[in-house]
Amino acid sequence: MSEIPYKIYLEESELPDKWYNVRADMKKKPAPILNPGTLKPVTVEELSGIFCEELAKQELDETTPYFEIPEEIKNFYKMYRPSPLVRAYCLEKKLDTPAHIYYKFEGNNTSGSHKLNSAIAQAYYAKQQGLKGVTTETGAGQWGTALSMACSYFDLDCQVYMVKVSYEQKPFRREVMRTYGAKVTPSPSMNTEVGRKINAEFPGTNGSLGCAISEAVEAAVAQDGYRYVLGSVLTQVLLHQSVIGLETKAALDKYGIKADTIIGCAGGGSNLGGLISPFAGEMLRGENQYDIIAVEPASCPSLTRGVYTYDFCDTGKVCPLAKMYTLGSGFMPSPNHAGGLRYHGMSSVVSELYDQGLIRATSVEQTEVFEAAETFARVEGILPAPESSHAIKVAIDEAMKCKETGEEKNIVFGLTGTGYFDMFAYEKFNNGEMSDYIPTDEELAKSISQIPKFDI
Ligand SMILES: *Cc1c(COP(=O)(O)O)cnc(C)c1O
Repeated sequence: MSEIPYKIYLEESELPDKWYNVRADMKKKPAPILNPGTLKPVTVEELSGIFCEELAKQELDETTPYFEIPEEIKNFYKMYRPSPLVRAYCLEKKLDTPAHIYYKFEGNNTSGSHKLNSAIAQAYYAKQQGLKGVTTETGAGQWGTALSMACSYFDLDCQVYMVKVSYEQKPFRREVMRTYGAKVTPSPSMNTEVGRKINAEFPGTNGSLGCAISEAVEAAVAQDGYRYVLGSVLTQVLLHQSVIGLETKAALDKYGIKADTIIGCAGGGSNLGGLISPFAGEMLRGENQYDIIAVEPASCPSLTRGVYTYDFCDTGKVCPLAKMYTLGSGFMPSPNHAGGLRYHGMSSVVSELYDQGLIRATSVEQTEVFEAAETFARVEGILPAPESSHAIKVAIDEAMKCKETGEEKNIVFGLTGTGYFDMFAYEKFNNGEMSDYIPTDEELAKSISQIPKFDI
């Protein structure tokens, strides 16, 4: 076998032709999303009022294993894909571990994250449908950036509701979006009914992702020719993100490498779901075994400490209900929480795979995450996003276990993006001012007790 290079590039011709829908291989499917009014599974018709029709179809299709990637999306992908799978030789040396560490790097585009993979698909389907534009929310700003890039490519109007605290703390993210022609509004705003209500109830609030989602949905429904798009959580997003896992699998296969451990950070579950889909598919079909680990912040521990139940996807309770691991739609991570990964719930596919025991989950605290980020940055040369660094932390932990046991495991993790816009958080860490906060059982119980009991 040939020597494994630092960067395993696939050829342009090896770019996947199809996205993979892992639900098709699940015997027990994720629970259907429900209309909050009727508590019946939503139909494509109902969803099409909020989402583009083609995306609504993808969202509800649990049997088609592969979806052709349209030519125009593939051509856009070719500008920045296939993304490299990097053998972290320098990190291995630094850790003095017998483990082989690989990371799939998704930060090589202006949005700085994997989110462009789904943004370009969602903008494409909106354009196909003849829409004027789309609305969305953004937290840390990566999704808004990715979507504004995709919309400018397809000449669509893009309206972004940006969580107020990020709007103020990340002015450069905002300017990237405006450079691509997006209209960016701090949320909660006075533009929407739900925004005005939240502003009245919580004067001076910094906003939250759940609240920005409600505003964006309301704005989409209120304007002719607009639909709402979302950058994570939804099954359609996991489908588009499967391109990450398919490329990873192809690159490993090219060198005859069998992954042992696969690690991804989990906010809404889209990068993790996309990375693991083809591997989870093999497990579901009984072809292979992998140790798959979802990593979440200890300050927002939906998988490790949440409950598996139907809940609202947003604070304003306008979205369909999803069965997922959730901390309650009113949950807000403590103010010292620095990075993303602050969503109260989790993708229903990732939730179901976790519930079936196919994957495991762990939580880590932010100071140890930033330590891992710096260790990585100093040897591998990439300044990682705080979100991605959750996966780095656990990859390092797993590699150190191999040092004790002498095992030469192949550890693969998703390096979802770069952290250039997160320097406030890095500054805090460098100044020794970063603290950890783990919510108490009482705090979580309070938020969880507010999840409505649906008669389903
Ligand atoms: C959004 C984001 C995440 C988390 O979102 P998922 O949907 O859980 O993947 C992780 N890393 C980066 C860099 C992101 O921008």
